[in-house]
Amino acid sequence: MKAISYVLPVYNESLGIKEFYQQLAEALKTKKSQYTFELIFVNDGSKDDSLEILKGLGKKDKRLKVLSFSRNFGHQAAITAGLDYAKGDAVIIMDTDLQDPPKVSLELIEKWEEGYGVVYAKRRTRRDTLFKKITAHVYYRSLRTLADIDIPADTGDFRLLDKTAVRELRKFREKNRFVRGLVSFIGFRQTAVEFDRLDRLAGETHYPFRKMVKLATDGITSFSTVPLKIITRVGMAMFVLSMFGIAYALAMKLFFPTVTVSGWTLLIIAILLIGGVQMISMGVIATYIGRIYTEAQMRPLYIVEEVIEQGDGKD
Ligand code: UDP
Ligand code: MG
Repeated sequence: MKAISYVLPVYNESLGIKEFYQQLAEALKTKKSQYTFELIFVNDGSKDDSLEILKGLGKKDKRLKVLSFSRNFGHQAAITAGLDYAKGDAVIIMDTDLQDPPKVSLELIEKWEEGYGVVYAKRRTRRDTLFKKITAHVYYRSLRTLADIDIPADTGDFRLLDKTAVRELRKFREKNRFVRGLVSFIGFRQTAVEFDRLDRLAGETHYPFRKMVKLATDGITSFSTVPLKIITRVGMAMFVLSMFGIAYALAMKLFFPTVTVSGWTLLIIAILLIGGVQMISMGVIATYIGRIYTEAQMRPLYIVEEVIEQGDGKD
């Protein structure tokens, strides 16, 4: 029987975690004869009694495993730990606040059986505050424009990964992680299942504005050096403009010497020249920093999906 692992990050979810577990267990019953399951709850340093509740659930359900962090390391770290730990033939990542409906995860499994390596759940609709809806909409679209890779819009971390995809993902050890971007990076056959994202069952979001900005920044900086390239472009533009400025100052000095204040020409030339040269120099530095950055990420150079060899290789 094939094994399926669920990676379930938990941070202060004591109000709703039992209900989530029950709904997931209920959904899994329908697939009991086809798969074995492993439910990896990653307790990301919860300050409430989420851990105690999980331990209690674990006593009755042998499929349940808990990885408990020593403090809050964040959602992306929790997912990563779960992926590192999971042993299944496929791994499903989902939130534990019931915003990602457990039933939808069964649809992900069906797609996987059709041969897809990555099946992500795409939000057809979402029930969130207007502010979150608007910022998310704008963000995902700008990310798609800026990023060097194709990151699907309106998808969170709710997705299924085949074990080969998980194996490749484990090679990525960068610190400021944007897991959903890394999943796009690794390739394989990817497809989407659409779903309606529900309201959080209980409690409040653990992505306050500050964490949202951090994640959004990680998304862009992890997959784009466009912000650095902008410096170079601005530098070039400023340099060209400063040449016009210098020409203008010289012309004034030559043709209207009575109008120009003494010392003005030298001052303007000095300011414009220094400004332009400085911006270009920053652009040069930015180019190297961009390279250092991508080198420091130490991403795999390529990902092999399949090796095709026949016989012993002799003609
Ligand atoms: N979460 C986590 N660590 C954190 C913040 C959130 O493990 O520091 C978990 C949380 O328990 C939930 C999932 O990540 O299962 C998504 O968080 P949340 O629902 O607060 O975010 P939102 O859905 O509002 O974007
Ligand atoms: Mg949520």
